[in-house]
Amino acid sequence: MAEEATAARSEDQEEDTADRDGGSSEEEQEPKPQQKETPTRAEVSNYEIVTHYFDVAKERLGLRDDVAEVLMSSYREVKVQIPIPMEDGRIHCFSGFRVQHNGARGPYKGGIRFHPEVDLDEVRALAALMTWKTAIVEIPYGGAKGGVNCSPSDMTEDERQRVARQFMAKIEKVLGPTRDIPAPDVGTNAQVMAWMMDEYGKLHGHTPACVTGKPISLEGSWGREAATGRGLVYAFKEAANQLDIDPSEVKFVVQGYGNVGSWAARELADLGATLVGASDAYGAIHSEKGLDAHALADHAKEGGELVEFDGDGAEKIAPDELLALECDVFIPAALGGMIHESNADSVKARVVVEGANSPTTPKADDILNDKGVFVIPDVMANAGGVVVSYFEWVQNLQHFRWDEDEVNDRLGKIMRKAYKAVHDRADEDDVPLRVAAYELGIERVVDAARTRGYIGGEGDG
Ligand code: NAD
Repeated sequence: MAEEATAARSEDQEEDTADRDGGSSEEEQEPKPQQKETPTRAEVSNYEIVTHYFDVAKERLGLRDDVAEVLMSSYREVKVQIPIPMEDGRIHCFSGFRVQHNGARGPYKGGIRFHPEVDLDEVRALAALMTWKTAIVEIPYGGAKGGVNCSPSDMTEDERQRVARQFMAKIEKVLGPTRDIPAPDVGTNAQVMAWMMDEYGKLHGHTPACVTGKPISLEGSWGREAATGRGLVYAFKEAANQLDIDPSEVKFVVQGYGNVGSWAARELADLGATLVGASDAYGAIHSEKGLDAHALADHAKEGGELVEFDGDGAEKIAPDELLALECDVFIPAALGGMIHESNADSVKARVVVEGANSPTTPKADDILNDKGVFVIPDVMANAGGVVVSYFEWVQNLQHFRWDEDEVNDRLGKIMRKAYKAVHDRADEDDVPLRVAAYELGIERVVDAARTRGYIGGEGDG
């Protein structure tokens, strides 16, 4: 593991959200200024985090080195040039990436991120995470991820559309409903998926199943926008049951009030829980008496910064203080590496539900485990989005649509089943949920790869 120097690279980092919540606003949005105050992030990379957890599971499963090498390396990595004429009259040359990690269990599946820090290393890590995640929730996909190193919040809607279309035009050959199906992630939303679907359709004819997370008006699925946040809450409810926590009595904090964070907050608030702190790329707020999760989501959706929210006795706090707020549940739902060696000890929550991918570095994970904090890991907790993406794909392929209750019921069943499988494994092996989740996911992928004949042979691999 690389040292977790906690130099605040976030100081220079740019804001990552364009339109929040997957809305499909047609209006030109004013680019936002750069972020002001953000918490420190660890210098350890997403790739190091995912590789570390893979290595732990590999040792525990007794996987042979040669098999592990196949599993940890990507099947295909594509990098393309995306030169975009911008409003400043210059051509900006962005880089686009698509990494297909492992397709043993089905077509590759994973989001597209628009963020200035996107690079091959990060996309590779997030693709691998998708492989284990789809296996843990038992949906018939492999794992992939993509991204463009642009800053959507500093771009006009027109510029974002150009990036989305050019990116699709350049990678369409490796995509398609039976090959690889993108979805939204940080900095992208339903509107971006609509542009990508439209671009794909120019070459292949109308093919809604080529991307998921689309707007409802373009064969998106009911419940997709809320699915990741809702899935987090389904997973938390299982844990709460086990830990004898009443969800209606908890105080909770959300770091990153975007799609995942704000939906998790609304779902938890609807159960009666109290949101006492929240943050976005611009700063953090706190209110002991509780913030209205729905009003805060509306405020963010309209483009407001959380620190400008003036209801419910909200007061501005330093972003690093957010982690140390007195609460029962902490939900990291921003970027990777936000809980690290230098701040993990300040966490007061009894439960951490990981909405973001790789929010906790391995050293921080050890600290949380030692403190007795119950961590529901990303690789299971935030799978709700890809589960409902799977439902969207199924509906698109068969040209029908389920109503939202049906989508949510099916999502609940899958999340509960996955939680139980991971929890039972953790109990059996006396390990934290994260280790059990990786073991389960990797085992299922090895099984599929071997049955397919992709990795052959007998032995302990
Ligand atoms: P988003 O762009 O909608 O929201 C991200 C939020 O984080 C925004 O509010 C942004 O302002 C905030 N943020 C950015 N930098 C921050 C910082 N330094 N401190 C505090 N807040 C900061 O993105 P999203 O789709 O909600 O994704 C959030 C995380 O969840 C990512 O790690 C993503 O990979 C993961 N995830 C998303 C989905 C999905 O369906 N969208 C599914 C699984 C996992």
